[in-house]
Amino acid sequence: MVPLRRFLAVLASLLVGAATLVAVPSQAQAAPNFKAPFPCGQRWTYSHHDGEVRRALDFIRSDGGTTNGTPVLASAAGTAHRFSQPSGAGNYIAVEHGGGWKTYYFHLSAYSVAEGAQVSQGQQIGVTGSTGNSTGPHIHYEQLLNGVGQNIVINGGGLSYPGSYGSAFLTSDNGCGSQPGKPFMTWGSGVRVHSDARLAASVVATLGGPTSVRVLCQKQGDTVTAEGYTNNWWAKLSSPAGFISNIYIDDPNAVLPGVPTC
Ligand SMILES: [Zn+2]
Repeated sequence: MVPLRRFLAVLASLLVGAATLVAVPSQAQAAPNFKAPFPCGQRWTYSHHDGEVRRALDFIRSDGGTTNGTPVLASAAGTAHRFSQPSGAGNYIAVEHGGGWKTYYFHLSAYSVAEGAQVSQGQQIGVTGSTGNSTGPHIHYEQLLNGVGQNIVINGGGLSYPGSYGSAFLTSDNGCGSQPGKPFMTWGSGVRVHSDARLAASVVATLGGPTSVRVLCQKQGDTVTAEGYTNNWWAKLSSPAGFISNIYIDDPNAVLPGVPTC
C-alpha cells in the first residue's frame, strides 16, 4: 500500500506542478451537488448546538415518521469508509467525494455498505441510530473540505444554524429520480407488510406510522376490510420489500393510478 500511495503522491505533486505552469486559477474545486442525507420525500428538522465539533448539523424527522431506523443516504457519490468511535461519533461513515470534499454521518445503528465501497448519490450507506455520545436517534451530518468543516449546503443552498429543532426544515429529493416505482405516502399505524398479497402470508415489516413508499406494481389478493374500506388490491413495495393492502396507500382510488399490474 505504501509504495503505491507514495507513487500517487509524487504523481499528484507532478500534476499540481504542471497545473501551476499553465496558470490554472487556484480556486477550490467546486463542491459536489450535495443532497439531503435521508430518503426522498421525507421532511426533517435540524439544529446546531454550541458543543458541536466543526460546522455540523443534527437532523431528526419532522414528518411523523420515526427517526430511529431510517436509512441514511450518501449526499453525493464517492468512496465510503466505516469507523467506530464509541465515546463520540459512534458508528459512522465518511464518504470521500474527491477534490478534498468529504461528508460525515454519525451515530449509525448499522452500516449498509462495506468498507471502501463505491457509493452513488442517494444510495443507503447506514441506518439512523444513537450510537456513541448521543442523547437520542439523529443523523449528525457534516461537509468538510480538506478536513475543515464547512457551512452545510444542500442543493446549492446554504442551511441555517438554529440552536434548536423545529424552526428550520429540509425535505429530501435525494434519490428521487433513481428509484423504481411510484412514490406514495401510507397512512394509519401498525400497517403490516406481507410477503405476498394474502393476509396469511408472513409479515416482513410493520409501518409504525405514515411512511413514504414506492409502489412497484399492484395485484389482486385477499379481500381486506379496514378503516371503513373494502379492497382486494395490494401494492408491492420496493422497501420494505413486500405487499400492503391498497387501503393503506394515501390515494382515493382502490386501484392506484399509474401503477402497473404485477
Ligand atoms: Zn451532532
